[in-house]
Order: sequence, then structure tokens, then C-alpha cells
Amino acid sequence: MTQSTLAPGLVLRDPALLEMRCFVNGSFVGEGMDPVNNPANGLVLGHVPDFGAAEATQAVEAAQQAFHPWAALTAKERSAILRRWFDLIIDAREDLALILTSEQGKPLSEARGEVDYGAAFVEFYAEEAKRISGETLPSHRSDGRILVLRQPVGVVAAITPWNFPIAMITRKVAPALAAGCTVVAKPAPETPLCALALSVLAKRAGFPDGVFNVITGDAVEIGGIFTSHPAIRVVSFTGSTEVGKLLMRQSASTLKRVALELGGNAPVLVFDDADIESAVAGALASKFRNTGQTCVCANRIYVQSKIYDAFVERFTAAAAQLKIGDGTIDGMQLGPLINERAVQKVERHLSDAVDKGGRIITGGKRHRLGGTFFEATVVINAHSEMAMAREETFGPVAPIFRFESESEAIAAANATTSGLAAYVFTRDVGRVFRVSEALEYGMVGVNSGLISTELAPFGGVKESGNSREGSHHGIEEFVDKKYVFVGGL
Ligand code: ADP
Repeated sequence: MTQSTLAPGLVLRDPALLEMRCFVNGSFVGEGMDPVNNPANGLVLGHVPDFGAAEATQAVEAAQQAFHPWAALTAKERSAILRRWFDLIIDAREDLALILTSEQGKPLSEARGEVDYGAAFVEFYAEEAKRISGETLPSHRSDGRILVLRQPVGVVAAITPWNFPIAMITRKVAPALAAGCTVVAKPAPETPLCALALSVLAKRAGFPDGVFNVITGDAVEIGGIFTSHPAIRVVSFTGSTEVGKLLMRQSASTLKRVALELGGNAPVLVFDDADIESAVAGALASKFRNTGQTCVCANRIYVQSKIYDAFVERFTAAAAQLKIGDGTIDGMQLGPLINERAVQKVERHLSDAVDKGGRIITGGKRHRLGGTFFEATVVINAHSEMAMAREETFGPVAPIFRFESESEAIAAANATTSGLAAYVFTRDVGRVFRVSEALEYGMVGVNSGLISTELAPFGGVKESGNSREGSHHGIEEFVDKKYVFVGGL
């Protein structure tokens, strides 16, 4: 059933964007079964289909049928459709932001930012479609030539998480479509409505039937088809390390390429020579964006001895000022956590930290608003034995560690199986290079707590992943290099 309001007073300008059916082979199909909740108040926004293996197979086969005609279009033709999709997303910015805040919880200002960020991948890859070039290489024979073609891999399966319901879809789908692949996407069950709204706009943009499909339902069954169906050539996944490993194992029997963006455990290193104002602002932005629920959120903040006290004082004062509430109310800075399980993890990390000598100096408990709202929290005397040092807390909790030397800070930062994002605050140019190069991470932000952009390759090392999304590098997962030897010249 389609409905036009998210909540009393929240009416969309374009009610058709609130689509509750799956998008397969150019049609909206399926019955609403699985509820989608608003994490700010627990109210049900609607129901989406509970697809399983049979429907997933149909979607994959629709994408398989659509592949050759789509790949045969000129790059300019594919680019034009992607560009129309981008324009439609931007035109629908306000509605998409409302849907996003309603199902995910982030403040409207962040939701608008995510629409722009998500749309930027579509814009970038509309442009990049025209620049996926091959090579000619010096030949081993004077009567022959070596060509290297870069061709689309085929059908791509995309599985995405709930923390960026728009951007995680477009960051995978736009480069795949630009390269000439077709896609079946499975959004997270918590946040399917953004993906379905994007599919409404994709249909209007004029993608041929079957080129882009969105299905919701049983993750295990759908994942089983994605990792075993012979037509799928790439499984592109963003989510937990545990599920990423499972999908990689499942994909082994058909040797699919598995592109993984997994969990992080981001350290922030603040050196004595840092500009303290910018270090506080950067750490705060990195820590509390999306209420601490991003894989690049600061998870551990290491501050050098001489400025430890000053940093803690300013950071804590700023954290205590953050406005917490329903993200649809203007001016809110922290929304609810996604669900009760997320709150329980935060509580478990906090009680473990306190048991091990940590001291909570602001926040530390559920917010008086109830539900899944949690106070912005700062813990001092943090150390490496605490659960919050080893695991991603994924909530509004900032543990602050003290260090003496550069080598000690680097060793502490690297003492994890994760390797996604790290942040460094220093004004010493030698240290900028030494520390950036020594950090075992896929991304380093120097004097900045926010680094995500469609213009740069996002991704991790170690157990944080094996691929890059964004920039021209983001195309690589979706093309094969074919060597053609032309002889007898
Ligand atoms: P989180 O714990 O943050 O929800 P997950 O890794 O469980 O992270 O979820 C990320 C995405 O992976 C979601 O779309 C989810 O439905 C999907 N998912 C979870 N388990 C599986 C599975 N066994 N096979 C395929 N997809 C899965």
C-alpha cells in the first residue's frame, strides 16, 4: 500500500516517492509485509515486501536480460540517463531528506547533506561513464597489436546498510551503471524506503527495464542467490565485517568478485602541536555525525599529554551542548540510535569501561526523551583493555586516551584488526607525512574530521575491506580488462 504522509504534518510534495513495493524489471511489485519503523518514535511508516530466493532469482534474471542492450548503448547515452537521475534526485531533495530522517533518524540537516552526497556519485559517474578508456600496449610482434579493453563485468548485486540509506546505494549503483553493468540492490531492512524512492526516480529518468532493480526481504535467502547465481559477477557489500566474511565465503564456489566496505575502529590522534580549536571541532564532527553511527566515526580519541586536559575540557563542553531530538525538528544535532540493540551495545561498552577504570564526565545514560535516544557521552581514562577500544561502539560515546610519544600513538592506533579511517591533528608538516604513512588505514584525515566525498577513493585495509568507492577508482570493481591481440597486420 502506498501512503502519502510519513507522519501527521510531514506531507511529501511528491507523494509517489513513498513507494512500498519492490522495483523489478521496470515494475513495482510485491505486497507490504515487513514493517519499517521511525526510530524517533517507534511508529510504523509502512510495510515492504518480504522477498525470498524465488523473487531474488527473478530480479537477477531480469538484470541478466537487460545487461547486453544496456552495455551496448554508447557511454554518452548511459551518461545522459544517469545525469537525468541526478537532476531528479536533486529536485526531490527535500522529500528524500524527510523520508531519510523518518526511517533512519538522522537530523534533517544531515539528511539533506546525505541527499547531496548521494546525488554527487550519480553526477560524478554520469561524467566518468565517458572516460572508461582502454589501452594499446607495445606489441611483442611488429605485425600485431596489443589492445586492452575495459568492459562491464555483467550483473552486480549490491547489499547496503542502514546508516546511509541513499549514499550507500548510489556509491555502488552509479559506477556500476556507468560502466555498463546492470544491478540488483538489496537495501537494509531498517531503511528500504530511500532505496525505493530512488528507484521511482530511476524509472522516471528512463533506465530501461531490468537495468536497476531494488528488492527487500529475507537477507539470508536473497544473499544466498546473490552469492551463488552464475549471472552475478560482483557482490558489492557495505556492512558488518561478520556478514562481509560470510558473503566472501559464499561467493567462493562461483568465484565472484566481492567488493567489501566493512566496519572501522577509527582513531583520532591529537598532538601537542595541534590547533586545539580545529582538533576539538574535527573530533566532534567525526564522533557525533549520524549520532556516532558511521564506520568512519571517531571510535578512539588519543590526546598527547600536554594538551590532554585542555582538549578534554573543550571537547566535553561542546559535546554537552549538542541538541538531541527528533531529527525532523529543525536544529537537532543528534537523532535516536537505530534500534534497541544499538542502545544496548552502547550501554555494554560503557559499563565495561567504568568497570575497568573509565570515568564518564558527561552523558552516560539514555536520554530523557526515551526510546533509543542516548546522551552525548565522554569517557576519560580510557585504555586499550576496554571493549570500546577494541570494537566499534557505533553510538555517541567518545573515549579519550592519553599518550606521550608519536610512536606510542601510532602503535596504539594500529593495534586493531580494522583499518578504515584515521584522523591526525598536528601542525608539524614532517609529522603529517610520518604519521599518515605509518597508519595502517585506507583513509587518513589530516586536520579534518570529515573526509567523505565522491571525488576520493573511500575504502579500508585489513578487516575493513578490500575495495574503493568514489573517484575514478570506483569504476574498477565493475570492469574487466580484456586483452585482444590483433595479428596478421
Ligand atoms: P548491521 O549489523 O549494521 O545491520 P549487517 O552487516 O548485518 O550490519 O547488515 C548490512 C546489510 O547486510 C543489510 O542490508 C542486511 O540485511 C544484510 N545482511 C545481513 N545478513 C546477511 C546475509 N546473511 N546475507 C546477505 N545479506 C545480509
